[in-house]
Amino acid sequence: MVNFEEALQIILSDARRQGVERVDFNNALHRVLAEDIRSDVDMPPFNKAAMDGFACRRADLSDEMQVVETIAAGAIATRSVGAGQCIRIMTGAKVPDGADTVIMVEQTEEVGTERIRFTGVKTTPNIAYKAEDVQKGDVVLQEAEFIKAQHIAMLSSVGAVMPLVSKRPRVAVLSTGDELVEPAEVPGPGMIRNSNGFQLAAQVKAAHCIANYMGIIPDDKDATDRAIRKALAENDVVILSGGVSMGDFDFVPEIMKKNQVKIGFSKVAVKPGRPTVFGRTEKSAIFGLPGNPVSSFINFEVFVKPLLFEMMGHQYRPLQLQMPLAVPFRRKKADRREFLPVYIDPATGEVTPVQYHGSAHIHAVGLAQGLMNIPAGVFELEKGVFTDVRPI
Ligand code: AMP
Ligand code: MG
Repeated sequence: MVNFEEALQIILSDARRQGVERVDFNNALHRVLAEDIRSDVDMPPFNKAAMDGFACRRADLSDEMQVVETIAAGAIATRSVGAGQCIRIMTGAKVPDGADTVIMVEQTEEVGTERIRFTGVKTTPNIAYKAEDVQKGDVVLQEAEFIKAQHIAMLSSVGAVMPLVSKRPRVAVLSTGDELVEPAEVPGPGMIRNSNGFQLAAQVKAAHCIANYMGIIPDDKDATDRAIRKALAENDVVILSGGVSMGDFDFVPEIMKKNQVKIGFSKVAVKPGRPTVFGRTEKSAIFGLPGNPVSSFINFEVFVKPLLFEMMGHQYRPLQLQMPLAVPFRRKKADRREFLPVYIDPATGEVTPVQYHGSAHIHAVGLAQGLMNIPAGVFELEKGVFTDVRPI
C-alpha cells in the first residue's frame, strides 16, 4: 500500500503530454497555453490621460490658463501646449506635447471664456506613461498558464488571436456492476441507477477535458476485458468505477494486467478510496476507482484531476485554505489520510464535517463546499483549530 503523496507521485511521473493545437482566442477559455505570449505593442502605447481635465504645464498651475483645444479619447491634439495654455482632454486621450500634467476637471474653475484656473492644492501628473505596464516584446502570458477570463483580455490586447494550446485529453468513463441501470430506467429489485458514470463524466468536463461515457459493463470477465481493451485503444485516460474492492466479482485489476497495463499501485492509504488502482499502458493511463459514489467523487478530485492538468502541461495546485473548525472532530482510526466533505459557513469561514452515513451517501456530499484534509496519525481536532480545506 502506498501513501497519498507516493500515489500522486506515481500518477504524475511519466504523465503523457498531449499534443498542441491553435485555437481562436475567443475559444481559449480554460485551455492551457503551450507557448509564451509576447506583446506586439507598448502598454500604454502613448502617454495617456488618466483623468478628464486639462493637459497643462506644472509650472503654470498657479496662473490662469487659456484653453486652446479640446480632444476626445482616440483623437490627437493638433498643437502643443505652450506657456499659459492648456488643452481640454478626456480620459484615454494622448497627452499633447508640451504638457506634463493633467489637472482634474473637478479641481478647476472657469474664469472667463475658455479660461480656467487650478483650484486644487497639489496634483499628481495623472498620466499613464507609455510602456509603464508592458513593453513591446515582453512576455505577458507564460506557457503552461491555465487561461481564465482575465487572460482573454491580455490575448486581445496583444493581438494573439490564435494562441497555441494543449489538446484536451479524451477520457473514457466506464461503470462496472450487474446491479446498475441507466438513470432513465426504473431500477428493478436489487438494482440501482448508475450515478458514478455521469458524476465522473461531469467531473471530467469540469476539468475541461473531453468526457467519453462508454456505458455499464456487466460483472463478467470477458465483457470487462473487451470494454477495457476498447477504452484503452480509443482514449488518453480510462476511468472505471467499481470492481476494485475485494468482492467475488471485483476483477478489474486482473483484467487490467491482461491488457498490458503496468500497475502503479492497487491500494492507497486514503479514506475513502483505499482500493483505488492506477496503471498505464504505452499510450494511456487507467484508474479503477471504488464504486461508491462518494469515494469515486473524492478520488477523482485528488488523483485524476491533477493528472488531467499535468497532461495538458499545467501543474494543478488546488487551493488549500486554513479554515477554523466549527465543531470538534474525532475519529477512531487514523491509519490513513482522510478527505472529509465539509460545509463552509460563508460568513465566518468555519467548517463543519458533513454527516454522511457511508460512501454511498452522495446526497450529503452534494451539500459540501470543501474537502477537509486530515493527515494520517491525527485522531482528533478541537473546535476552532485551523484545518486544511480544499474548496470543491
Ligand atoms: P464495488 O466497488 O463495485 O464493489 O461497488 C461498491 C458499491 O458502490 C456498491 O454498493 C455498488 O452498488 C455501488 N456502485 C458501484 N458502481 C456504482 C455506480 N456506477 N453508481 C452508483 N453506485 C455504484
Ligand atoms: Mg461492483
